[in-house]
Amino acid sequence: MGKASRDKRDIYYRKAKEEGWRARSAFKLLQIDEEFNIFEGVKRVVDLCAAPGSWSQVLSRQLYLPAKSSAESKEGDLPLIVAIDLQPMAPIEGVIQVQGDITNARTAEVVIRHFDGCKADLVVCDGAPDVTGLHDMDEFVQSQLILAGLTIVTHILKEGGKFIAKIFRGKDTSLLYCQLKLFFPTVTFAKPKSSRNSSIEAFAVCENYSPPEGFNPRDLHRLLEKVGSPSGGSDLDCSSGWLEGPNKVYIPFLACGDLTGYDSDRSYPLPKEADGSSYQSLDPIQPPIAPPYKRALELKKASAQSFNS
Ligand code: SAM
Repeated sequence: MGKASRDKRDIYYRKAKEEGWRARSAFKLLQIDEEFNIFEGVKRVVDLCAAPGSWSQVLSRQLYLPAKSSAESKEGDLPLIVAIDLQPMAPIEGVIQVQGDITNARTAEVVIRHFDGCKADLVVCDGAPDVTGLHDMDEFVQSQLILAGLTIVTHILKEGGKFIAKIFRGKDTSLLYCQLKLFFPTVTFAKPKSSRNSSIEAFAVCENYSPPEGFNPRDLHRLLEKVGSPSGGSDLDCSSGWLEGPNKVYIPFLACGDLTGYDSDRSYPLPKEADGSSYQSLDPIQPPIAPPYKRALELKKASAQSFNS
């Protein structure tokens, strides 16, 4: 698909370039905030799986830049934003970048060091593995990434804090919901308008972090496994009997973002240039600087060149 054609079919792709976002995902976080007000009072935030950086841009524009331009803010008062990804990403004002793996236990320590021993008010995670198209497999790998995010959360999120994580809807959604409910009294699955209906992605919005009494992060996996077992914890029993028949749990699921706004599943005509000339598609704001597919692109280019020569 050419750039202009994609501009027509994907209004959020076009708007992202017009508004200077590195990826259309920026709108998802903005629409989640419209509904849940997630940035209120946030001073320390962690962006897990951040590259190419559109969520970090949102954090910078919503939290860091307004505080920086406010006359009252002193250097030490500015919000701290830490972004982590396996891939490197181009710098963003007010964002501390860490190249690392969120499944590695050390990553939490690195974050805490950047926060001078303090904990975060908000953790966001838009992580995604390389999607295979096999839904069960993709959902499983995605749930492992969320659990890695949750592991980090149990080390770095302050009590009362929020966690936003991308999920893939599937047969284990209820189990994931129950696992998150162990730590957050309020969990809502949200579908921002900018996320296509055809996509199985949604976002878990988890509010008011309250780990179980006496919780030790080292016991996390044992606790999560228990939730899915028939002898699961009595206070939140997600064993199969609880998920079926008259006892079935209904998961709060919410569409968010201005419902009269742009629909990500519709095509929109391209605007006319002011001088009547034809539409010029914009280049992406900041392509990934070292994507995992870089080598594949180089090989493809080299083979095309050798074919033509
Ligand atoms: N939120 C980003 C934005 O708005 O630009 C987009 C994130 S992209 C959909 C998913 C990212 O997850 C990729 O950059 C990938 O490198 C990262 N990722 C996947 N597994 C990871 C892991 N184990 N640790 C850190 N990052 C990971």
